[in-house]
Amino acid sequence: MATDPAAELPFFYGSISRSEAEEHLKLAGMADGLFLLRQCLRSLGGYVVSLVWNVEFHHYSVEKQLNSTYCIAGGKPHCGPAELCEFYSNDSDGLVCTLRKPCLRSPDNPIRAGVFDNLRDNMLREYVRQTWNLEGEAMEQAIISQAPQLEKLIATTAHERMPWYHSKIPRQEGERRLYSGAQPDGKFLIRDREESGTFALSLMYGKTTYHYQILHDKSGKYSMPEGTKFDTVWQLVEYLKMKPDGLVTVLREPCVNRNNTKQTPVVPSGVSIKNILHGRYSLSNVFIEASAKWLIIIIIILLLNTVHFFQRRLRTNGYTPPPGVPLGGSKEIKTSPPTDRPMLPMDCSEFVNPYHDPNDLKKFFINRDQLMIDEVELGSGNFGCVKKGVFKTNKGHTDVAIKVLKSENEKLVKDEMMREAEIMHQLSNPYIVRMLGLCQAECLMLVMEMASVGPLNKFLSTNKDKVTVENIVGLMHQVSMGMKYLEEKNFVHRDLAARNVLLVNQQFAKISDFGLSKALGADDNYYKARTAGKWPLKWYAPECMNFHKFSSKSDVWSFGVTMWEAFSYGGKPYKKMKGPEVISFIASGSRMECPSGCPDRMYALMKDCWTYKHEDRPGFVKVEECMRVFYYSISNKTPPEVTADAAEPLK
Ligand code: AMP
Repeated sequence: MATDPAAELPFFYGSISRSEAEEHLKLAGMADGLFLLRQCLRSLGGYVVSLVWNVEFHHYSVEKQLNSTYCIAGGKPHCGPAELCEFYSNDSDGLVCTLRKPCLRSPDNPIRAGVFDNLRDNMLREYVRQTWNLEGEAMEQAIISQAPQLEKLIATTAHERMPWYHSKIPRQEGERRLYSGAQPDGKFLIRDREESGTFALSLMYGKTTYHYQILHDKSGKYSMPEGTKFDTVWQLVEYLKMKPDGLVTVLREPCVNRNNTKQTPVVPSGVSIKNILHGRYSLSNVFIEASAKWLIIIIIILLLNTVHFFQRRLRTNGYTPPPGVPLGGSKEIKTSPPTDRPMLPMDCSEFVNPYHDPNDLKKFFINRDQLMIDEVELGSGNFGCVKKGVFKTNKGHTDVAIKVLKSENEKLVKDEMMREAEIMHQLSNPYIVRMLGLCQAECLMLVMEMASVGPLNKFLSTNKDKVTVENIVGLMHQVSMGMKYLEEKNFVHRDLAARNVLLVNQQFAKISDFGLSKALGADDNYYKARTAGKWPLKWYAPECMNFHKFSSKSDVWSFGVTMWEAFSYGGKPYKKMKGPEVISFIASGSRMECPSGCPDRMYALMKDCWTYKHEDRPGFVKVEECMRVFYYSISNKTPPEVTADAAEPLK
């Protein structure tokens, strides 16, 4: 689970209510300046500081700003909740007093997870699975890369998972559902109104049902008329469970929608779905902590989810995705995101492997009549040119890139292209251009998924003003994930460079060009080239040039050069130097300088990648972890499963 940035603070209580906060402060003695921090139930990612002064409680909400800083209304921005509390411990700056004494959480009082904390992991996983049609490790990698951007998107649809959500039903049907079974005060449901994007609350009190419209203002906040405003519907509901905010009663018991297949089980706080799935929290623990009732609900819903999942797998391509969500084999291709959020990798014509079915994996050749070749050239390389095309299958039509071998090319080049195809055919990762097949017709053609925005270096050099450092860090993190995958599978790329990182969109990078790549034998950790070829020397590690030895560690060196190109917005490495000059420049211990505007941590990582001896150079496991930690830190998130030393320089 993505950890809350305040999770390490001993005075952070998580998702507790105002009255619970006051109870903790009372128990701790009500001294002046006694304070605690809790999750804000109103704004996403926000907090509340609860403070005692003069035997009275004061609650200050801390908003998370769009630029990911935190501030108390009217106060200075701070980069995290810890920094904010530290600041107010020295300077009251408008508060009734400084934060003098933290009200510490007792060890038997764990941080209370909010409703969304328990759902987030599962929803992220399902979203990435559905939109990218990924499974296993590839899915985990996509989740790691997308979590910061997707969390907000997902939070806004989290209500669909709640037992009280009944989607679009008329008011009368809402009443019928509330009247069926027991009719306690506070029984409630939420339903969609006719007008899209708006909701209504139906509530039982004194055996009568009351209907309230949930307002949705221009800034996207939800509220009861004249009530407190919330970023999401589920936060509003959580709040109304504690405060009536103008209703006849607080919300008490959800009227459970038994038709809601999206529903996610509610698990005891501190037990995330991921923990259960990963076996860190056994079902017996759940049994002890959850009541028997919860356990039965969990099992039934898990079973429903499993059945639902297998049904979906069986009709993978018949499944209708939610509007705007491209899904495996579907013809629907979305090229622009909803206007209210930045473009994400899945907002693109990402090609989902039509060979997803394991029985199809053996297929390698594509029939000529399945291909339509456009005259548009996407680029050219050693073999010939790469053309735009369309690949037709019974599952739909998809844009593809077709590497066309020049017909006059001799056998040697043809063999090389066959080898490239064989390598690519074995790779399946979101951050590696997927090969769809070979076609032998008027000439040999390698059909690949399309990365229409083209090479990273070109894109960066022509879009300097549009691309932030965070964007570059995100893209390079994706490249590191693709390379980590290659390292795991024992492949060496041998031509990693910004020109060979292709963009599907501004947020989504894929490694391409496996023309020089090699699969290493199970017991080998390097490939030895017999003779030097037409090599990209400026990207090569010393051992490649001196001893013709290529390994994942030499790919790490190239990754460092690729990072340099990216942070220089497509600059040319080693400026005017020629290959042999670069060799002596490196051997003398010199390295390229830090590109202007490049964060220190990123330059430190580049230099680690340029460690002279390959034995001392980090591998991609470390490089990826380092990229992830940095990427998450600037996106204000804590990365999942980071080892203790990842936050430190590599050496
Ligand atoms: P290559 O021979 O692999 O270096 O490809 C030459 C050029 O063709 C690249 O620099 C890209 O501009 C373009 N290209 C190659 N593969 C693709 C692809 N899968 N999608 C879009 N453009 C591509």
